[in-house]
Amino acid sequence: MDAAPAIIDVRGLTKRYGGRVVVDHVDMQVARGRIHGFLGPNGSGKTTTIRMLCGLLTPDEGSGTCLGYDIRSESRKIKRHVGYMTQKFGLYDDLSIEENLAFIARVYEVPDAKRRVQAMLEQLGLASRRTQLAGALSGGWKQRLALAACLLHDPQLLLLDEPTAGVDPKARREFWDQLHTLAAGGLTVLVSTHYMDEAERCHRLAYIAYGQLLAQGSAEELIAGAGLATCSVTGPGLADAARALRAHPSLHVASFGAALHVSCASERELEAALAPLLGGTLRVERVATSLEDVFIALMSRSRDNYPS
Ligand code: ADP
Repeated sequence: MDAAPAIIDVRGLTKRYGGRVVVDHVDMQVARGRIHGFLGPNGSGKTTTIRMLCGLLTPDEGSGTCLGYDIRSESRKIKRHVGYMTQKFGLYDDLSIEENLAFIARVYEVPDAKRRVQAMLEQLGLASRRTQLAGALSGGWKQRLALAACLLHDPQLLLLDEPTAGVDPKARREFWDQLHTLAAGGLTVLVSTHYMDEAERCHRLAYIAYGQLLAQGSAEELIAGAGLATCSVTGPGLADAARALRAHPSLHVASFGAALHVSCASERELEAALAPLLGGTLRVERVATSLEDVFIALMSRSRDNYPS
């Protein structure tokens, strides 16, 4: 944890639905001005955790603060300073960009609403499109408008739940540039994502699977902490080799374009498993373990430990 004050500081957050634990004693600290990425398979409890942090859901166990306010007793104050954006952007299709912002500003009683709407139009590059109907916008522009809408009340924390799902790569890059500009200005961001390029753009990451937080830290810390040795395998006959390697219980095997990445916690086991391939048509080389290799290993380990 770095020296900046904690914007999110929670311990033991737990949520159960019908006796099933969907968030299991999660601890999380996020410092001011940081972009904190939240990763993990679908159904792992990311949305539920985000909703507990901003006071939309009460945890069954656990405690802590968000923006210095108690998540159990001061959720109204938290909500006032949080911008929450989900995949469903919550826009009005038959209103223009400007009308959407003006309407939302009125609903949330944003002070000096007219000036604030103009400022958001300028800041997010929406001014020249202000009269376009939201329903006619591409996914990327809708996303930009949704971001403007959740910044209208000048929040200190943005909670973004898979905000770039279904948005094209260029718009996603621009969205992330915007997030970094906002974070540099002191805004804190917690963002869930499935995209590896986005994970790499976060200051810190948390990986959750089946409700359990399995790893937290910077990308470098997660890679170092995983302690994996990784090889890349390429060349003709890769599909047969992949089948054989996947049968090996301690190897993590994943396709990366035309290459196969094979990771293992034991360097010796990795070498032994790949030895039969040497001298054949395939090329085997040691590569640096990537963040994606780490997530694949974390996911398969957690699946093995999950009671079925
Ligand atoms: P993620 O955001 O990682 O995809 P969620 O937090 O949405 O995961 O869901 C975690 C688990 O909790 C899922 O199995 C989901 O079905 C379950 N869940 C979420 N909300 C409810 C609810 N209101 N009632 C019952 N089960 C729920």
